[in-house]
Amino acid sequence: MPAPSLDSLVSLCKRRGFIFPGSEIYGGLANTWDYGPLGLEIKNRLQREWWKRFVRSRRDMVGIETGILMNPKVWEASGHVSNFGDPLVDCKKCKERFRGDKLLEEKIGVEGAAVLTLDQVQPMLIAEKIGCPSCGSVDWAVAKKFNLMFKTQQGVVEGEGADIYLRPETAQGMFVNFKNIAQTSRKRLPFGVAQVGTVFRNEITPGNFTFRTREFQQMEIEYFVEPGTEGPIFENWKEVMWQWCLDIGLSPERLRIREHTKEELSHYSSRTLDIEYKYPWGWGELYGLANRSDFDLTQHAKCSGQDMTYTDPDDPKKKFVPYVVEPTFGLTRTVLAILLEAYEEENLADDDTRTVLHLKPLVAPFDLAILPLSKKEHLSSYAEELHKKIVQETGLFVDYDVTGSIGKRYRRQDEIGTPKCVTVDFGTIGEDAVQGEKDTVTIRDRDTQAQERLTISSLIEKLKAH
Ligand code: ATP
Repeated sequence: MPAPSLDSLVSLCKRRGFIFPGSEIYGGLANTWDYGPLGLEIKNRLQREWWKRFVRSRRDMVGIETGILMNPKVWEASGHVSNFGDPLVDCKKCKERFRGDKLLEEKIGVEGAAVLTLDQVQPMLIAEKIGCPSCGSVDWAVAKKFNLMFKTQQGVVEGEGADIYLRPETAQGMFVNFKNIAQTSRKRLPFGVAQVGTVFRNEITPGNFTFRTREFQQMEIEYFVEPGTEGPIFENWKEVMWQWCLDIGLSPERLRIREHTKEELSHYSSRTLDIEYKYPWGWGELYGLANRSDFDLTQHAKCSGQDMTYTDPDDPKKKFVPYVVEPTFGLTRTVLAILLEAYEEENLADDDTRTVLHLKPLVAPFDLAILPLSKKEHLSSYAEELHKKIVQETGLFVDYDVTGSIGKRYRRQDEIGTPKCVTVDFGTIGEDAVQGEKDTVTIRDRDTQAQERLTISSLIEKLKAH
């Protein structure tokens, strides 16, 4: 069972230290969020797992990290200066601003809204009697194209520096380095370049918690191929991306693939599909897969004057500008999806309930928690030693919690998604044979709540195998 509402997840995230409102002590800054100890751990784990799967375990991939600030000519060449915008509509009554296409989605569908031309937006809002979400008025100004790139200035003297943009995608850093990578990595086509990084978009209507923010992280791949071979490669990436979604714990019933119609395609794309997730407010994009053809490399060749052709090492007469298949994964949006999916308010016997995050161990913030039954010195020092031993021998990330009743501590671990808890009791230290034999502990499973008594050595063997 996924989260019943976004609010219940937002409240858990704040209460347990996953995600906090940004700049909170100053009253916040709308739609900014900070990752607390547990949220950061999930994000780091996802990123590491993604890197392991898509870069380190594949011979056809390399990684790169490029700057957030790039020469502004990059964004002219890529089309972002002229094309990267959304239709902005002003409510004439209350002066609030919205994305016209998003307001229309419920009435005319995502596909219908995506293909509207700028001058169709305002008449359509009026014809469909769509009221302003703030004041209800249907008095809309004519839609304007709003560029989503954040502009800033480079240089030390205010007003005298050159205008420069914060990157709205990581992709261009990979295109402008294509030659560097091809020459130094000795990779042959097809090969891909991966990058994880922060990007900025001045979204008109951010919201739904971390779903749409103005600063977020992406994990992107630009996969360079010989023109004409992109069809099956695209299909393969579709399957690989789908499998990734399942492996991080998203259920197939809440996932679907939506192909973009021809009219909906971005300026650079000849085929795009979205992998969508069913969020509490409805279906929305999770990831995208696009065939960017040779658009970007050709544009950069034209605008920079540099040659972007690839020469086949086996046949030097064979020269071409590669095509690009681009699988793109929003990292922060993935964190949101897996938290929504994992959340459950479970009814227990005796009218009791518990909140539990059924996170896959792969992405859970902690692998394990050690809970000494009592704060008594000799018991907790045994538990502390055990903590040290498990960390050293298994490399796992292990929480340690000694405060509160054992029941409350189990509930806390359930709420933060810790897959297993180990309890050290008086039996463990040889003082209470009823609780268990010396040097044995109880291990409890988060999902089934089943408990098992194990010797320390078999516990460590089990954890190593995990
Ligand atoms: P949307 O249709 O939701 O605006 P998009 O099609 O503009 O997204 P892409 O340019 O394909 O998105 O970006 C790649 C990925 O980055 C998306 O699949 C999504 O996971 C993530 N993403 C895009 N915009 C945001 C945002 N404002 N906040 C958080 N994640 C985002």
